[in-house]
Amino acid sequence: MKLPDHFSFSQYNLQDYVDCKFRFLLKHIHQLAWPAIESEPLLLQEARMELGQQFHRLIQQYFIGVEPGVLSNSIQTSELADWWQAFLSLKINEQPGTTQAEKMLSVSLNGHRLVAKFDLLLQRSSSSYTIYDWKTSTQAPSIRHLQGRLQSRVYPLVLWLSVTNSVTPPQNLPEIEMVYWFPAFPEVSLRFEYTHSNYEQDLDYLTHLIDEIQEMKEEDFTRTTDVKRCAYCQYRSLCDRGISAGALTPGSEVDSPDSDFYLDFDSL
Ligand code: SF4
Repeated sequence: MKLPDHFSFSQYNLQDYVDCKFRFLLKHIHQLAWPAIESEPLLLQEARMELGQQFHRLIQQYFIGVEPGVLSNSIQTSELADWWQAFLSLKINEQPGTTQAEKMLSVSLNGHRLVAKFDLLLQRSSSSYTIYDWKTSTQAPSIRHLQGRLQSRVYPLVLWLSVTNSVTPPQNLPEIEMVYWFPAFPEVSLRFEYTHSNYEQDLDYLTHLIDEIQEMKEEDFTRTTDVKRCAYCQYRSLCDRGISAGALTPGSEVDSPDSDFYLDFDSL
């Protein structure tokens, strides 16, 4: 399969491929816009998107040096104010090291670019890092689900490759941990160490995944048989997998763990 010029792999498009090959084909190769909204009601979805974007912007401004008091005064909703206070109580800025918000890295893998954009990268020492990712879903987080996401493999792998292939690679193997944190559930976080064994497994897995995609013919990009994957997909009507989207109502149970990610900001 010929990929578009300047195509980069990311956790976002690789997750689409793993979830549904046909979605990958439509979205990332044919770049087909399709009008179906991904969840309903639309106004609620838009409000959640806006809230999540405001939170990410706040954190970014905080780490480029805007005074916390100025940022606090800019907040206009109680929910965002609660998230902001929960974030401040983490006291990440008191940890030793250097921080970079919305940090993008790109590495070469199997003849392609593999990119990642970290909500926050904390470099604790010359070879020691923490990747933070804010998940602003208002649904209770599923740790098991997050661990299975491509993001949990792509982000630390990109950092590992970037560090070890740098002009001045560290003398020791990198120490990388990844933290998912949930401002709506500040007492919950998923923190895991990324080991050399993880690195080897992910390098092998992602190399083969990219090989597989390159060797696919168009007719091989089949629709998923797991129709739950379709509930939040923009191509539902095209695939005859329903007109109505999965519902996102305050406090409702989500019937697909993927709904969190359609409302997330990790589109790289
Ligand atoms: S509607 Fe379902 S089958 Fe069609 S692209 Fe989306 S996830 Fe795949």
